[in-house]
Amino acid sequence: MIRNYDKLIFELSKEGRVGYSLPKKEIDGYCMCCGLPDNLKRETTPELPEVTEFDVVRHYTNLSNKNFGVDTGFYPLGSCTMKYNPRINEEMAAHPAFTQLHPSLPVECAQGALEVYYNLAESLAEISGLAAFTLNPYAGAHGELAGLMIMRQYHMQRGDLKRTKVIVPDSAHGTNPASAAVCGLEIVEVKSTANGTVDVEDLKPLLDDTIAGIMMTNPNTLGIFETEIPEISRLVHECGGLLYYDGANLNAVLGKCRPGDMGFDIMHINLHKTFSTPHGGGGPGDGPVGVRAGLEQYLPNPQVKKDADGKFYLECDEKSSGYVSNFLGNFGVIMRAYTYILTLGRENVKMVGPLAVLNANYVKEALKGDYYLPIEGVCKHEFVFDGLVDKSTGVTTLDIAKRLLDYGYHAPTIYFPLLFHQSIMIEPTETESKETLDEFIAVMKKVAREAAENPDVVKSAPHSTPVRRLDETTAARFPKTTYKQMKG
Ligand SMILES: *Cc1c(COP(=O)(O)O)cnc(C)c1O
Repeated sequence: MIRNYDKLIFELSKEGRVGYSLPKKEIDGYCMCCGLPDNLKRETTPELPEVTEFDVVRHYTNLSNKNFGVDTGFYPLGSCTMKYNPRINEEMAAHPAFTQLHPSLPVECAQGALEVYYNLAESLAEISGLAAFTLNPYAGAHGELAGLMIMRQYHMQRGDLKRTKVIVPDSAHGTNPASAAVCGLEIVEVKSTANGTVDVEDLKPLLDDTIAGIMMTNPNTLGIFETEIPEISRLVHECGGLLYYDGANLNAVLGKCRPGDMGFDIMHINLHKTFSTPHGGGGPGDGPVGVRAGLEQYLPNPQVKKDADGKFYLECDEKSSGYVSNFLGNFGVIMRAYTYILTLGRENVKMVGPLAVLNANYVKEALKGDYYLPIEGVCKHEFVFDGLVDKSTGVTTLDIAKRLLDYGYHAPTIYFPLLFHQSIMIEPTETESKETLDEFIAVMKKVAREAAENPDVVKSAPHSTPVRRLDETTAARFPKTTYKQMKG
C-alpha cells in the first residue's frame, strides 16, 4: 500500500488547503489579496499543489531519505574516491568570517580568504612537486581544459604553431579526449599493453613535431601504477611535447610520490575526490591546476600572490591562458580541502595512499575467485573485474550492479574503463573499516552465488528500490522533471 506521504506532492493537493497564514491587512491601504495593482496580477492562478506546511515537510523529508550518499552507506564508485567528508570541513566552510565576504570586495578587505587560497595552493604545490597552482577551475574536467589551454599557450608563445595533437591512452577517462577536443586539439590514441600500462612501443611512432603533449593518469583508471613514466617523460620531452597528469587518482600516491618528480609539467587535482570535499549531484567541486617552474605565467588569471610584507594581492599576467572562472573558484570547496589538509597534517597525509591501497587489495583478493580479474597483481587504490568468473548463466555487470542496490549498496562504476566488456570498477577508499569491507565482500559473494543458482533474481533486480530498472538512456536524454510531464 502506498502511504499518503509517499505520494507525489501534487497528489496530496486538496483544493483550498494552504501552507501559510498571512495577516489580511498589514500596511494601511495595502491588502495581500486585492492591494496589488491590476497590471501586476496574474490572469490565471499558478498550478501549485495546495498543501499544508506539514505535508511539505514530511514529503521532502521522506524524499531525502530515499537518497543514497556516502553518509548513508558504502559507496565503492571506482574513479570517484567517495571517502568520508569530515564535519569539521563543513564547520570551517560555514564560518561567517568567510561566508559573508562579497567576491567583489577590495583585496585589502579579503586578506584572510586570499591567505586560505594562497596556503592551499602552496600545500598542493608541495604535495605534487610542482611550482605553482591555480584553484580557479570548478572541477576536474574543467581543470583538464585549463591545463590544456596552458599547454597550448606554451607552444603558441614559442611560435611553435604546428603542435595541435595530444596523445591520450586507450584506458583514459572520457573527460581527457573531451577536454582536448574542447581545447581545439586533435586526439591521438596510444594503446595499453596486456598489463594495463601505456605501451611505449606503440607510443614511439606517434611522437613528432605536431604533438603538443600527452595526458596520463597515474595510477591509471585500471588502478595500475604506470612504471614506464621516466621513459615516457624522456621521449615526450625529447620530441618537444609536455606531460599532463590527470590527478583524479592522486589519492593512491598522496604523500608517497609526486607527479612533479615523475616529470609531469601540468596537472589537475580533484578536491572533491582526494581532498574530502563533497561531490555528487553535480558539485560544486574544484579542480586546481599546477605547473612546473617556467610555466607559471600561463596559469589562468587572476593569480593570488603575496608581497614582501606578507600582503596578498591579485595579479593578471598578459601571457596567461585566460580566464576560466568568475572570481577565484569555488571558495567553499577550497575552505574544506584546506581544513582537511590541516587536520591530517604532514604525517597523516602520507597514510592516506597506503590505506586506500590496502583496502582495495583486500577486497580484490577476497573476490577474485568469484569475479574475473583480468589483470593480476597488486593494484593501487582501485581495481577492475571483468564480470563474473562464471558467465554461463548470462548474468551481466549491469545485473550485478542492480542487485547490489537491493542489499543497500551504491553500485561500483560499471562498463568503464572500456578495455573490458563487463568492467566493474571498485574503489573502497581509506576511510572504510574492515567490518564494512567484510560485509561488502559477503554481499558480492552472495550475488555471485545467486547468479549461479537463481540467475533470474539477479537479472530482474532491483526488487526493493522505490523504482525498478529504468530505461537509463531515455531517463538521461528525456527526463521528466515536472508533474505535468509525468502525467502528460
Ligand atoms: C573524475 C575523473 C575526472 C573528471 O573529474 P570531474 O571532477 O568529475 O570533472 C577525470 N579523470 C579521471 C581519471 C577521473 O576519475
